[in-house]
Amino acid sequence: MSLPAQKRILATAVPGPKSTKLHQQRTEEIAAGFGVTLPVFVEEAGGGIIVDVDGNHLIDLAAGIAVTSVGASHPDVVAAVKEQAERFTHTCFMVTEYEPAVDVAATLNRITPGDHEKRTALFTTGAEAVENAIKISRAYTGRSAVVVLTHAYHGRTLLTMSMTGKNVPYRDGFGPYAPEVYKVPSPYPYRWISGAESAGDDAYDLLVETVTSQIGAHNVAAIIVEPIQGEGGFIVPPEGYLSRVAAFAREHGIVFVADEIQAGLGRTGAMFAVDHEGVVPDLITTAKALGGGLPISAVTGRAEIMDAVGPGRLGGTYAANPIACAAARAALQVIERDDLPAKARRIEEIVRPRLEALTGDDSYVGEVRGRGAMLAMEFVEPGTTNPAPEAAKKVADYANSQGVLTLTCGTFGNVIRLLPPLVIGEDLLAEAVSVLEDAVEALA
Ligand SMILES: *Cc1c(COP(=O)(O)O)cnc(C)c1O
Repeated sequence: MSLPAQKRILATAVPGPKSTKLHQQRTEEIAAGFGVTLPVFVEEAGGGIIVDVDGNHLIDLAAGIAVTSVGASHPDVVAAVKEQAERFTHTCFMVTEYEPAVDVAATLNRITPGDHEKRTALFTTGAEAVENAIKISRAYTGRSAVVVLTHAYHGRTLLTMSMTGKNVPYRDGFGPYAPEVYKVPSPYPYRWISGAESAGDDAYDLLVETVTSQIGAHNVAAIIVEPIQGEGGFIVPPEGYLSRVAAFAREHGIVFVADEIQAGLGRTGAMFAVDHEGVVPDLITTAKALGGGLPISAVTGRAEIMDAVGPGRLGGTYAANPIACAAARAALQVIERDDLPAKARRIEEIVRPRLEALTGDDSYVGEVRGRGAMLAMEFVEPGTTNPAPEAAKKVADYANSQGVLTLTCGTFGNVIRLLPPLVIGEDLLAEAVSVLEDAVEALA
């Protein structure tokens, strides 16, 4: 199969009649707890395009939430999945072993920061990787406390939900939450109370104070941060913050974990977001882009930490599923061979100046931020920093109706994030930005 035509086509209203009918059926069959950004039903997708059942070709600025960096039907991934499915779909890696899992682990051990000896543990979802990073950190240190940042997102399971910042929709009514999770302020420059310049130093001081005076450093198993916060609003920590936190953790025998599930594997213009600052975490979690669309996640890190957990103590029936591993092996090859980090930098070159031109004192766009192909606009009431979630929603709704699939995020719901597949064509990307520009201009 070839990729769908790489152009935006509006055949009907979006969503069209077929999607609308299917969506109605869906509400009668599928639990209401699953929201949807745009209720269109997909027929095929690939490159920078999603084709729906009404024949609309949408430009994809979501990549299935940063998953399909190589596109949603990369020929190498498709071939790898077919070939593996024909040989066997599953044996359970805890029962009998197979090579694709070892290959994926070897690649992650090689491409993650640091040249120390590493091990990788493979799982299925991002939340599972985070849960296991915490299990491993606790086993290694013999400590229980976990330090996370406000505005963080780490998943929807009990522990990872407890580590997540935003109440609605992730936490509200789902408690009681897991104990021994401590939150310290995220250095959010745009919203830092005493100004952006002091965010990094202040946030670092608050972390140190919380760890030393309130928890006790000798009780802390792990400090876990997203090197660019994803769901929280694409918040980029001030330069130096991550390396100071990593050094503090090292000094106190605390495992420093980078959650690179959204930002990793080329998305920000480097293989890992921590690479921009030369930070070497003890453990790194990956998922999303890893499987080229199939569910697979990983914890990669220092051999002595990873191997502190003895045989039989990590795993899962589907952990390191062979089809997902074959897909990941292919996706990782594409990311390296086609230098997708460079594509992400190119995406930033094209998009960032145009989005920045939308900011200004009388604009609803308060700030443009992010790195590489992980860029966002934060919407505020013009002339203030008061969040304007309705403006973000209007822009996203307009873009979606014009065939540009756009996601919002942010603790205040006022951020539009761009997460295109890294393989998107430059013309398509430019066209999508034009639609966003129109939408922002229509706000005024
Ligand atoms: C998406 C995400 C997760 C959770 O991954 P799932 O596969 O949805 O469980 C964890 N951390 C970060 C930073 C994420 O973006």
